[in-house]
Amino acid sequence: MDRLRNKIRDIPDFPKPGIIFKDITPLVKDPATLRLTVHQLLHPFLGRDITAVAGMEARGFIFGSLVAWELGIPFIPLRKPGKLPYDVQSVSYDLEYGSAELEVHIDAVDSNDKVLLIDDLLATGGTAKASCELIEKLGATVVACAFVVELDFLQGRERLGNYEVHSLLHY
Ligand code: AMP
Repeated sequence: MDRLRNKIRDIPDFPKPGIIFKDITPLVKDPATLRLTVHQLLHPFLGRDITAVAGMEARGFIFGSLVAWELGIPFIPLRKPGKLPYDVQSVSYDLEYGSAELEVHIDAVDSNDKVLLIDDLLATGGTAKASCELIEKLGATVVACAFVVELDFLQGRERLGNYEVHSLLHY
């Protein structure tokens, strides 16, 4: 795990003062570490009944699509409003200041699907919780959520309640 940790760069005061941004671009720039990360992410789910991987815009697309590719199952993008061209289901959620929205195509998954959610980082859990709700609005089941990084002090895991949560690195 030190190999992964060494490839995550802290950027203080981005995007605003007081936030330490965990920059994963050095990790995705290094093929061996990226491969290790993807394998660690999917490891808890080998042999389990998962039919699709959903990833949140934008860094969830990188890790989510690679996990979906490795598992040989569909990748479902959860996008910011106005980006998806077909009919959408949407969910809005509160941020520290204001609110945000995520959308998914209405035919992305259905009641037969068992979905693994992937994002780069779990902070307060607002994005992940909303993503779970969005998947469930389409009738599918959320099997678990997996992250490269979890910021323990923000207690996102608690916000996710009974959902199964896996993270590779804790800060
Ligand atoms: P949250 O909804 O608070 O759990 O925030 C999670 C989302 O915001 C993820 O999509 C992350 O990519 C992004 N994010 C939040 N905090 C950070 C951080 N300190 N460094 C990098 N990304 C972050």
